[in-house]
Amino acid sequence: MTEEAQRRLLVELGASLFQRGYSVGSAGNISIRLEDGYLMTPTNSSLGRLEAARISKLDRDWNHVDGDKPTKEVFLHRAFLDARPEAGAVVHLHSTYATAISCFEEAVIPPLTPYFVMRVGRTLPLIPYYRPGNPEMEPAVHAAAKGAKAVLLANHGPVICGATLIDAVNAAEELEEAAKLALLLRGMSPRLLTPPQVDDLLTTFG
Ligand SMILES: [Zn+2]
Repeated sequence: MTEEAQRRLLVELGASLFQRGYSVGSAGNISIRLEDGYLMTPTNSSLGRLEAARISKLDRDWNHVDGDKPTKEVFLHRAFLDARPEAGAVVHLHSTYATAISCFEEAVIPPLTPYFVMRVGRTLPLIPYYRPGNPEMEPAVHAAAKGAKAVLLANHGPVICGATLIDAVNAAEELEEAAKLALLLRGMSPRLLTPPQVDDLLTTFG
């Protein structure tokens, strides 16, 4: 896919996430890995109103080279894209249900549905609370991303990667759906997928 096409897709999917309430105001940010660097949503931009030509571009060493200034949370994206060479895009949202789960001391989303396991995987580490934009968060996210496709930032929201931007957005939507189910079923005793069922999904689709 050309950089132009990637920019257009970023605008389209950002607007789609915004319209469906996955991000409000200027919350949330998205990055894409390119051959020669990275595209990143600009600081203080709304996912609902991105402009293709103003999207921030960074070179391979993460220097800002074109477009508006990148998001303050650029280090979240760098942590994931450095830790996971197969990742082509990263989505960070403040989506309601996943953020609600991130406020629990034990922020766990159990294996309730196959699609959650297929898209997100076996583990969803919780990163301790840091002030948003605090770069001290990067080493913790980097370490967790080595073993997981997604993390929850405590009292803040989810960060998730995918092979492509479409994969990352699909996974972010699946994570939000799973968080919603986990809250709906909290305090009840739903049947969870068994460890062999989780293994089967990961070997078949992982
Ligand atoms: Zn954030």
